[in-house]
Amino acid sequence: MSETILKPDTTFDVEELRKEFPLLSTEMNGHPIVFLDSAASSQKPQVLIDSIDHYYKNLHANVHRGVYQLSQEATHAHEEGRKRIQKFINAGSDKEIIFVRGTTEGINLVASSFGRKYLKEGDEVLISAMEHHSNIVPWQLACEQSGAQIKVIPVNDEGELIMEEFDRLLTEKTKIVSVVHVSNALGTINPVKEIIEKAHAKGVPVLVDGAQSIPHMKVDVQDLDADFYTFSGHKMFGPTGIGILYGKEKWLNEMPPYHGGGEMIKTVTFEKTTYNELPFKFEAGTPDIEGSIGIGVAAEYIEKIGQENIARYEHELLEYATEQLSQIEGLRIVGTAKNKASVVSFLIDGTHPYDVGTILDKLGIAVRTGHHCTQPLMDRFGIPGTVRASFAFYNNKADIDRLVEGVKRAAKMLR
Ligand code: PMP
Repeated sequence: MSETILKPDTTFDVEELRKEFPLLSTEMNGHPIVFLDSAASSQKPQVLIDSIDHYYKNLHANVHRGVYQLSQEATHAHEEGRKRIQKFINAGSDKEIIFVRGTTEGINLVASSFGRKYLKEGDEVLISAMEHHSNIVPWQLACEQSGAQIKVIPVNDEGELIMEEFDRLLTEKTKIVSVVHVSNALGTINPVKEIIEKAHAKGVPVLVDGAQSIPHMKVDVQDLDADFYTFSGHKMFGPTGIGILYGKEKWLNEMPPYHGGGEMIKTVTFEKTTYNELPFKFEAGTPDIEGSIGIGVAAEYIEKIGQENIARYEHELLEYATEQLSQIEGLRIVGTAKNKASVVSFLIDGTHPYDVGTILDKLGIAVRTGHHCTQPLMDRFGIPGTVRASFAFYNNKADIDRLVEGVKRAAKMLR
């Protein structure tokens, strides 16, 4: 990122920043694209694209294997990516940073491995009503195998967790709590620090799904005291196919491996295998090397802009979008929590979200429609889905104006 983008007061110039994202200068259906689906996957800055190009042109070889210089350089770049992520989330050690494919794999790893070791009949796993399917189904699989049961913290009409219910559901039967930091469907920012404190008071570990928090705010895993924290590269301006599972060394040492294969072993005989040390014990097979390099580049890019600057700017966008959309007759915002990230989910009386999304597409506006992989949450609100606009720091007020105009037009056509 060029230094000129940072103004002296450390806020950034969004118009300059937008130029660093090539895709934002393209068209969709004959209109300059308005990209409002960053919660599904963010766009990529040139610096990331360059780093991947550089890797394949100059650095590629398998890692941790070759004695030759190229392999050692690739290994260094791969491990440098891990160190950058350790610093980015303030983990105590790089042994606690496991490369996975994304949030989904991070949760599956914990549910499977922790589940095999610690869950048994009569135990409970506590999740919330606003979880993404990827923080529900892996626990259902673990419960099927162990005979444990899932309990669900309900949400109120604003889309906030009902904390009195959390207090009531957290019992001596609870073996793990697994909750989302920021809801992808509603934007609610959950009080994860309070949840972790309360769970720890009862000796219960906590996994936090950070897929939607990492791109928008500073996360310090030691300050949160999270036992596990997982997120995806592709939502934080990095590559697809890579993600991070942070886990406290204490847990990761005690948990059994997830996948078996090369890299995760120390010695293998047909009778017995001994496992590699952390983090490699959980990293079977050739890793996503362009991904580990890319996610490190993305983390540094975010740090340069500054998470506080990002959070402040996106909050302005959220307030502006909420105010403008609320003025549209018959439009109802779903998810009105006091503490929200830059997501606006809404419905328009007498229309189906899919139809609204289709008209917006024709106008060059990319939004998400449907249940957002949170069907139980949609059931809680008694709706099939919503239209969701989600913002990143590269969006501007002109994007929101185009959205508002588009929604008005869609409402008029569909009613
Ligand atoms: N959790 C949340 C809250 C999400 O928004 C998503 C992605 N929509 C996921 C988990 C799954 O992430 P991925 O598909 O990158 O594994």
